[in-house]
Parts: sequence; C-alpha cells; structure tokens
Amino acid sequence: MQFSQRTVTCGGLRASDVGKQVVLNGWVHRERNHGAIHFINLRDRYGITQVVVDGDAPAELQQTASALKMEYCIAVTGTVRPRPQGMVNPDMPTGEVEVKAQKIEILSTCAVLPFMIDEDNKTKEDLRLRYRFLDLRCGGIQKRIALRHRFIKSIRDFLSARDFYEIETPTLIRSTPEGARDFLVPSRLYPGKFYALPQSPQLMKQILMCSGFDKYFQIARCYRDEDARGDRQLEFTQLDLEMSFVKRDDILNLMEELFGYVFNEVLGYQLPVHFRRIAYRDAMNTYGCDKPDLRFGVEMIDFDDLARKSSFNAFHQALESGKGAVRALVAPATEGFEFTRKYIQELEDAAKIYGAKGLAWMKVTDEGRLTGGVSKYFEGLDGEVLTVTGAKPGDLICIVAHEKWKKACVSLGAVRSRLGKDLKLIREGFEFCWIIDFPLFAYNEEEGHWEAEHHMFSAPQVQFLPTLESDPGSVLGDLYDLVLNGYEVASGSIRIHDVELQKRIFRICNYDDETAEKKFGFLLNAFKYGPPPHGGIAPGIDRMVMIMTGQDSIHEVIAFPKNTFGVDPMDGSPEEVDPRQLEELHLSIVYPQKQEKAD
Ligand code: ASP
Repeated sequence: MQFSQRTVTCGGLRASDVGKQVVLNGWVHRERNHGAIHFINLRDRYGITQVVVDGDAPAELQQTASALKMEYCIAVTGTVRPRPQGMVNPDMPTGEVEVKAQKIEILSTCAVLPFMIDEDNKTKEDLRLRYRFLDLRCGGIQKRIALRHRFIKSIRDFLSARDFYEIETPTLIRSTPEGARDFLVPSRLYPGKFYALPQSPQLMKQILMCSGFDKYFQIARCYRDEDARGDRQLEFTQLDLEMSFVKRDDILNLMEELFGYVFNEVLGYQLPVHFRRIAYRDAMNTYGCDKPDLRFGVEMIDFDDLARKSSFNAFHQALESGKGAVRALVAPATEGFEFTRKYIQELEDAAKIYGAKGLAWMKVTDEGRLTGGVSKYFEGLDGEVLTVTGAKPGDLICIVAHEKWKKACVSLGAVRSRLGKDLKLIREGFEFCWIIDFPLFAYNEEEGHWEAEHHMFSAPQVQFLPTLESDPGSVLGDLYDLVLNGYEVASGSIRIHDVELQKRIFRICNYDDETAEKKFGFLLNAFKYGPPPHGGIAPGIDRMVMIMTGQDSIHEVIAFPKNTFGVDPMDGSPEEVDPRQLEELHLSIVYPQKQEKAD
C-alpha cells in the first residue's frame, strides 16, 4: 500500500518545530467540527497532536476530513504552527502547537466502537478483554505495559552487569508435583504419555547449578492449573533466579540492591538500602499474617496476662490448654469516623471468617476509663489495660481469643487490615519486608501427612536436622518471602543439595524412596555428581508491576490475560479441537456427567 510515512510521532512536536513540514501517522482520537474548521486529535502510542483543517482548505481535503470517524487510521501531511492565543494546552506535551493539514489519507476505517478509547476504560472487564486490541489502545494500560517493559529491562541490565546468565529452560517437561496442579500436554509420538508445562523452572535451575552456571536468571512463564482469581492467572511471569555458593543473606542483599536499582530506574523512587526482616512467628503475632502491609501501624499485642487477670471466662478458656492466645489491637480515634455498634459488628464478621468465635471490644472514654463491650470484666484494670495497649481517649480496643494461637492471630489480623483501609491509615509509597524463619512443613489434615510449606527442595535450618522426623512441626526452613505493601511478591530458599537429606524430606512428605525415585530421579541423579550449595528466589513480575502501577488486579498489567473464569474472551480459548487432532493424540473425551438436580 502506498501511504505517506510518518516523519514524527504524535507525541514529538514542540514550539521549536514551528514551520516544519511533517507527516503524522495515527488514529483519530477525537474529532470536532467548528463550522468549516475541523479539529482532529491524532493519537499514537507516543501522544496526541492536534491537527487542523482550516475553513479555506481545498474542497477535497474538507471532504476527507468530514468523512473521518473515531479510530480511523490516517496519515496527515502538514505544517507545524503555533496554536492561536488562548488555545495553548499546558496539559499536553504537544499543547503549544498544531499541524495545519495539507493532505489526509485514510489508511483504514473503523467499525462502530464497543467502547470509547480513553485514558482509563471503565467498561465491564469481559467486554474489555473481548476487544482487548482496542482496550490496549487506552492511555492507562499503554503506560502500564510500557512500565512493565522498563521494569523487565532494568532487571536484565542489573543482573547482566553482575555476571548472571539468562538461560531458557524448557516449557515441555516431566510432570513433577510442585504444589499446584500441572497443565498436561499429550504426546502424539508416545501414546498415553504427557509433558507438563512447568509450574516454575525450579528443578531445571537447580540442575543448572549442578552444571556450574552459578548465577542464573530467566524471565520465566509459569503455568498452574488453579482456579483463576483476581490476582492469579493460569500462566504468569516470574523473575526466576538461582545462585551457587550462597547463604540466605547473599540472596536477600542481592534482591534489595536489585529492587533499589529497579525502583529508582523505573519510578524514580528511593527504597531503603535494607528491608526489614521479620521472623514468621513475629509477623503472625504482630500483624496477624505472613504478608503484612507495613504502610500502617496498628500492631497487635500480647493480651494473655490481662486476659488472665480479667473475669471473662471465654478468655480463660482460650488459654487453658496452653496452645491458645489472646491478642489485642487499638483502633485509633479518627476524625469523622465513629466506632458504631454496626461497624464493630462488621469487624467481628471479618474476624469470624478466619475462625474467631467473636470480637471482644472496649472503648476508652474522654476521662481515660474503659467502657462498653467486655469492659465490665476488667474492673479495676483500666490503668493497666491503657498502659499495655497504649490506648487513648476515643480509641477502640479489639481483642480476639482462641484456643489455637494461629487462629487468634489471623482473625485479629483481618480486623487490622479492615481498619487500615476503613480509617485510611495506609501511607502512600512502597514498603518492602522479608519474612524469614518459616516452618518447613505444614500438616495436611485432609490427607493426614506432612507436606512442604514452600516446596520439597528447600533446606531445613541446620539445628533441626536431628529432629526432622520426630518433630516436623517445629522445623524451621531456610526460607524467605519478600512482601510488598501487603502482597507476597517473591519466595525462595536455600536448597538441599544432599541426596540423603533430600530423600528424608521426601519421606516426611509421604514420598517413599521408590516414588521419589520415579518422580525426581533426574534431580537425585544430578545430586550424585558434586552438586554445589545453592539457593534462589522467584519474584512475580505481574504482581510487582501491578503494585508499582497502583492497580488491584494483575489483569491490568498483562497484555492478554484470561478472565476470572480462566477464559480468554478474545480468542475464545479454551476451545474444543478437531476430532482428527484428538485422534492423532490418541485421546478421547469423557465429558463429565451433568449433575442431576438433587430433590
Ligand atoms: N520455584 C519457586 C516458586 O515458584 C520459587 C523459588 O523457590 O525459587 O515459588
């Protein structure tokens, strides 16, 4: 096709370009007619330029201008001139100038739009995803995709300058249990056999360490066949990283330096040199979760002693077995916000989701006395309660008691989160922290055995080696999570590199030697040939970019995400395939029986 090719982009013209003859290519963003004068806002990925067809323009040009509709793709040839007095737009980088059109070529027309192309598209998500090619024309998402690019580029720059190799690992691998469900790919050549899509390159990167590539990274696609949720996708992107001859702090320090560099490059944001390191147990005790949002305080405190001194039976019962806990927090008096019965009920509902039987509360009067809720059980203890909690007049003290320590913490943690949002306590900015000293194992009540909290290749801390089998519940791992603004954005560990220790962990997780050999024989084999000590981490790219761009869903930072049902409304996947394809793959489909309606 013959057309006039652009000499500048729609974001490039400034006052210094006045008088130049230019060609612009782009899309009709908006178009207005003032009598015989046409104003066209021409847009491309770099910006918007105002194009004007003057009243005295030749009839043919006038005609073409009249035919233009939104999102037509056009080429404009013209001269740059200053905007008339009073028409300068200081909000637009190109706002001092306009292009007087001499020729307009229509490169393609556009059907009726399902929604307007705006800075931010407020249309329903499914419509946005169905017309993602149009949605991606919107300014907001274009900026986020651009930021994502800069984010990944600066990661590559930083790591390449530190001797890391970027190495691709296969996307068709053996199915190995790694926590989630695998996506399977049937083999045409080997009937009845399957590849799996990697949940992460975990084993491959460990094998690369065995091969001597002692600093590896990859911007890796990972696949997990899970129910999709707001911030989860069936496929997502990780910065996968592994190093040999390292200890925990080497990885933590490297990540702090990396994100310090990246946040400065991409956002001009200065992070502290080191991030807080919080032991898992302390995080649970203080914030009621292992991914605390540190942009606000409202720290939880130990209320066991005061609970014992109170005359409230429910508190005594929770502590009876020695495994329970009573924890408290102070919701600060906030101007314009009243702690009504209804609101306290909402807080209680939030706590109950996590197992609390109720939420005990007391208010502090202007005179500094306890009132309402469970205050009657604290007679004579007002002073002590205020000293221990630090509560002041107008504050609300919230207390959760439970015979299980974790449930008490997590339930009150949910109250803390609600308060952070509702009382608008959350500061602007980015607060990273490390959570360390995680338990290595969690007990799977349903299946009746221990399993790895992270994955089975993470090393236990050495002091627990003698008691792995006798007391798995108390074993701490050489594990670490990176948390940003209340989201877990990375997890990693120092790995096991000893065949015998690896087998012990497999056995505790219910894999006997034979099964372990069958599933992970290739790793165990590599471990026989001089494996180095190694460790790594994998920050989630989608989630980090989501937080950096102030979004609530990773859909907003992925070019072509699936919707919350795991469906791509644009290409219609997943979709049935031709029966011949099934035949070639030696597959036949057994459809699930339609559920009969129960009477
Ligand atoms: N492979 C792990 C994951 O995807 C991360 C790691 O341990 O490096 O969660």
